[in-house]
Amino acid sequence: MTMSTPAGGKMIMDLEKMGQLNAEGCPACGRKFEMGETVVAACGAWEGGPKFIHENEAVWDDKNKQHVEKQCYQADRATGAR
Ligand SMILES: [Zn+2]
Repeated sequence: MTMSTPAGGKMIMDLEKMGQLNAEGCPACGRKFEMGETVVAACGAWEGGPKFIHENEAVWDDKNKQHVEKQCYQADRATGAR
């Protein structure tokens, strides 16, 4: 499924988005999204491009100008730092 990404990749969950995203749930924590939660489009350890995850599970990667899932970001820094 392709979805248009809003500017900044951040949005608030509403009924329509819940219907789209809750088939899979949040790829970062596996929970379902809830009404009114803030989500961001982030890259992570999953296949393909950015997916929507809870905002507090993502960090802003200023180098790449995008959100990255926290664990993925830390793993990336750990391997890329040297
Ligand atoms: Zn989550």
